[in-house]
Amino acid sequence: MGVREIWKGFGGKDADSIRVPDAEAAVARISTLSDRQRLELLEDCEQSDLAWFWSTDAKCRLNYLSAKALAQFAPERAVIGEAVSKVLQTVNEDEDHSEAKPIAFLLSSRSSFTELVVRLHGDDADESARRWWQITGRPQFDARREFIGYRGTAKDITSTYADKRKTSRMAAFDALTGLSNRHRMSQRLTNALRANEHEKRSCALIMLDLDRFKQVNDSLGHPAGDELLRQVSQRLQRVAPGGAEIGRIGGDEFQLIVPDLDDRGKLGDYANRMIQMISQPYSIEGRRAIIGTSVGIAIAPYDGLESTELVKAADLALYAAKGGGRGQFRFYSNDLKETAEDRREIEEDLRDAIDKDQLRMHYQPQVCTKANHVLGFESLMRWEHPVRGPVSPGVFIPIAEDSNLIDKLGEWALMQSCLDAASWPGELPVSVNVSARQFLNEDLPDIVKKALKNSGLPPSRLELEITESVFVGDVGSASDMFAKLYNLGVKLALDDFGTGYSSLSYLRKAPFSKLKIDQSFVNGCSSDDASGLAIVQAIANLASAMNMTTVAEGVEAMDQLKTVGELNIDLVQGFIFSRAVPQEEVMRKLESQELVYEPIGPATMRAERRTLYRRVGVVHEDHHYSAMLRDLSRTGARIEGLVDVPIGTELVIDLGEGQIVVGKVRRSQDATQGLQFETPLVSDGAGGLCTRHRVSPYMLTSVGMPLQALQSGHHLAAAAAGANSGNTRPRFMQVDVSGSASRAGRDAYSG
Ligand code: C2E
Ligand code: CA
Ligand code: CA
Repeated sequence: MGVREIWKGFGGKDADSIRVPDAEAAVARISTLSDRQRLELLEDCEQSDLAWFWSTDAKCRLNYLSAKALAQFAPERAVIGEAVSKVLQTVNEDEDHSEAKPIAFLLSSRSSFTELVVRLHGDDADESARRWWQITGRPQFDARREFIGYRGTAKDITSTYADKRKTSRMAAFDALTGLSNRHRMSQRLTNALRANEHEKRSCALIMLDLDRFKQVNDSLGHPAGDELLRQVSQRLQRVAPGGAEIGRIGGDEFQLIVPDLDDRGKLGDYANRMIQMISQPYSIEGRRAIIGTSVGIAIAPYDGLESTELVKAADLALYAAKGGGRGQFRFYSNDLKETAEDRREIEEDLRDAIDKDQLRMHYQPQVCTKANHVLGFESLMRWEHPVRGPVSPGVFIPIAEDSNLIDKLGEWALMQSCLDAASWPGELPVSVNVSARQFLNEDLPDIVKKALKNSGLPPSRLELEITESVFVGDVGSASDMFAKLYNLGVKLALDDFGTGYSSLSYLRKAPFSKLKIDQSFVNGCSSDDASGLAIVQAIANLASAMNMTTVAEGVEAMDQLKTVGELNIDLVQGFIFSRAVPQEEVMRKLESQELVYEPIGPATMRAERRTLYRRVGVVHEDHHYSAMLRDLSRTGARIEGLVDVPIGTELVIDLGEGQIVVGKVRRSQDATQGLQFETPLVSDGAGGLCTRHRVSPYMLTSVGMPLQALQSGHHLAAAAAGANSGNTRPRFMQVDVSGSASRAGRDAYSG
């Protein structure tokens, strides 16, 4: 077939007696060209690549294609006779963000199309050999309105399209790491969520923010920072869940979109793996650097249906993860909204806490294990907020660190601690906490010098407590700072040992004279937990081999004190001897010349179990009850509020925000039941527990709730129960146990 036949297809029987279509009739009439000349013109056009022609039969199989177009296919390929959709492929969204419908769809729906960009099938392997055409097509019908095939034009646009593709790739991908950029990620997320809503699928959004990246960038230089980011992106690609789209959306912020993953157990595992992977040391231009990362996770549709909502949720979770001490992950939950609000307020008020004289330094004794003598005090900051009352430094110090207030607070703490210590009788040292952020401040040695000079305290009586996190970042500049401080004659203590980035190599390099074993380890060795004991023993041995004094932090019970003594730990700091007390009390104690502390505390530390007092919903058959949650562990819970529930009964517990667990009653007495969960809970990243799965907002629409992200509260069980509320009578009596004492049975009402 040739162009002659195609032309004929427009209506003529014979190329020499062409019946020109109406629209062209007028032109034909005034045209001075003969039909033959017109045909030549078209053939010329075809030859010169100005336009090619194609046509198909009624089954959309190619039956004509201009010779020059055919030449673009491998010679052995029999293109004529093949289905158009096998020969040409609409370029997909992946390639140029367009949302064009697949060509097969257009053909089967008999649509006309113009300027459709297609790629030739079968050239996938070699990118440089790929060809793109722009085609138009119109369905043809015979006199009886029967479809007889397509006809259209095509044009090779490869050269211009490749350029366009390159530019659009640049607009979609991050040049440094090759990951998707912010623009593409947000587009992908929007598209994914739109499709999800249709298909009732889920999608997790994971946000990462590197901890201490800025420090590496500042001290090692930008090229090193770039290299670090490249290495981070490679590590991320290695540990990311399959099918995840990974992007870099800002300086040191990364994002993952993970389709069809809403299992919080698995997501938590992934987050931990990413945190661990990223926290391993990096070698950059021959220098060592360590960074960390915080991770926030939100899951659609539970935490948000639309992209802005979901991104906001993931951001809040990330913010909370950072606030929780970095190197952590956090799932979004509704109360984070309040937390963020709280933090803003606290930051605001903290700004003038010093000027308004709301801060105090308190002092907690460090007592030797041999004779219970006090050998020094740690200074701990206290803030009496005019409305909130006392705010814990565990809360406000991280906020101060995030908002650059820490330098001001830290300087004040140093000044005040030195002043107070200078007035203590005797030679007792004071230990002052220096946060990693202060440690980055080049002025720190001068600030320390000033505090010493101003108070007259000899440098040997000042000890700075520093946590392992100062080693995160550029290890070299940390060493410089150590040297400067050491040269001032002050002592250095390594605080919270064992909680951070457990690389021991720096212990050799940094001149620590004291090592403080974190409370979590001390807690671990109070029980009969052999491995906990072994760890503390190993730390104590290590420290003594390096001539460091050891301190056990957070000792509260007699048995802990005994164990700590047996392990040859030098000092104890804990409630068993004293809490941190005001300067006046320190003075009273020291002036009494009685420098011994008596241990006072419980015989043993009860194994840590979270005692909770929160209200949960309970569903049994089709009735909804309310109960108090007294204890919660991974595998079970204790609830109070239903009377005489037989052992073996299955209850559904609504922990709020869509978290539903099925449990079986294992123990039951009066209004208290011990439940064992069918599926264990998982870590929520904040030291608490959560369910792996939640009730899907899609499902809730079936019981009449609007389609929206999960709200706080326990309306879910109610909705579930309401949906099939029958005529049965409630099986159990519900009692009010919301007061602190259990009044089970007395003020009962039937639910
Ligand atoms: P840290 O340096 O590890 O301080 C020890 C914390 O453990 C103190 O909490 C102390 O009150 C608490 N503690 C002591 N003995 C026991 C015990 O037997 N049982 C229990 N459960 N806790 C005990 P605090 O005062 O709430 O301080 C929390 C953290 O805030 C400190 O942890 C420190 O990292 C930071 N911080 C406190 N004051 C300052 C300061 O002036 N500057 C800086 N940069 N950070 C500070
Ligand atoms: Ca400390
Ligand atoms: Ca500590």
